[in-house]
Amino acid sequence: MYAQLIACVAVLGAGAYMVKNVFDDSKTVSQSPYYEDTELPEITTEQATTEPDPNKLLFESSNIATKDKYKGDLILVNNDHQYFGGDEDLVSIMEMNDKTGRDFFTAVDYTYTIQGCVYEPLAQMVEDFYNKYFNDTLIIYGSFRSTEFQQQLYDDDLANTGEGESTRVAKPGFSEHETGYAFDFSETENYDYDGTGDFAWINENCFKYGFIVRYTEEKEGITQIQDEPWHFRYVGIPHAYYITKNGICLEEYIDLLRSYVYEGEHLDITDDSGKSYEVYFVPSDDGSDTTMVPVPVGKEYTISGNNVDGFIVTVYKDGIPELMKYEPGSAGSSSGDSENSGEDDSDVSDDSSTDDTADSGEDSAEY
Ligand SMILES: [Zn+2]
Repeated sequence: MYAQLIACVAVLGAGAYMVKNVFDDSKTVSQSPYYEDTELPEITTEQATTEPDPNKLLFESSNIATKDKYKGDLILVNNDHQYFGGDEDLVSIMEMNDKTGRDFFTAVDYTYTIQGCVYEPLAQMVEDFYNKYFNDTLIIYGSFRSTEFQQQLYDDDLANTGEGESTRVAKPGFSEHETGYAFDFSETENYDYDGTGDFAWINENCFKYGFIVRYTEEKEGITQIQDEPWHFRYVGIPHAYYITKNGICLEEYIDLLRSYVYEGEHLDITDDSGKSYEVYFVPSDDGSDTTMVPVPVGKEYTISGNNVDGFIVTVYKDGIPELMKYEPGSAGSSSGDSENSGEDDSDVSDDSSTDDTADSGEDSAEY
């Protein structure tokens, strides 16, 4: 039953691939008062006289297509890591708003799409924001972009600047917008969302809904993208908590997770509601079509590629949060491949000043 709950990465959940092969029956995890003792198979190497430890997760192996390391809600896409996806499960934001009766925010038009699993967390975040401030001016001003559309934005920028390379628009294939997991807010009064005033609530609380403020001034040296308080990236609740509470960026998080390999210590995360999670990394077997990924027995979990060198397994020890439950395709179909889910071109070229000193830095604007 849990397989169908697997959020964005159901395609990688691979419940069907499981084989009866106990991978590590002596894994010990830290004690959690929230741990529910489900009926774990009694496979243990401990002596028969020992009581089974209820805090112990059991694992079995799951074969995952190695190329799936390029998919999932934790993929890292930046100047150094190209996006190779292509079968996004997209929904139209405005169509979903119509369907769910939400009128407190909008998108530029019906072609603005995002990954299906992102819609509900986004809508609930905006709904909570609206209920707090009665502010209904939020508009999604950037969302999924096809690589073709990113190419168009890039070419337009080159044409505008006369430069051979753009420092303002991400190269086609290298924009997080192409994943469908990122969106940009604007507001309909001045079209100038900066995450201050009422909107500060969004930037401060978005992690509770599974989003991170992807590009901050402090991390500009790492992300190579300027401060963008309007650009949000979906990574899922436990990861958004960890990233935000530890003040790191996605690049640093993906790197950090490499030290939490399956065989070693796993990363424990607890959210504000007390739900606990366990996260670990499994390197991809790049010499093979499939990678054997250990997954927990009897617990809900998701597997996401990191788009670089492996898979990140998230174990929902107390179950998947309501907000994250999503069945692929359940949000209704939409013409997923619309090509113009981007911004007004004028926005991109507006402030390309004639100042051609290269001091706008190495940073790309991630429109
Ligand atoms: Zn953006």
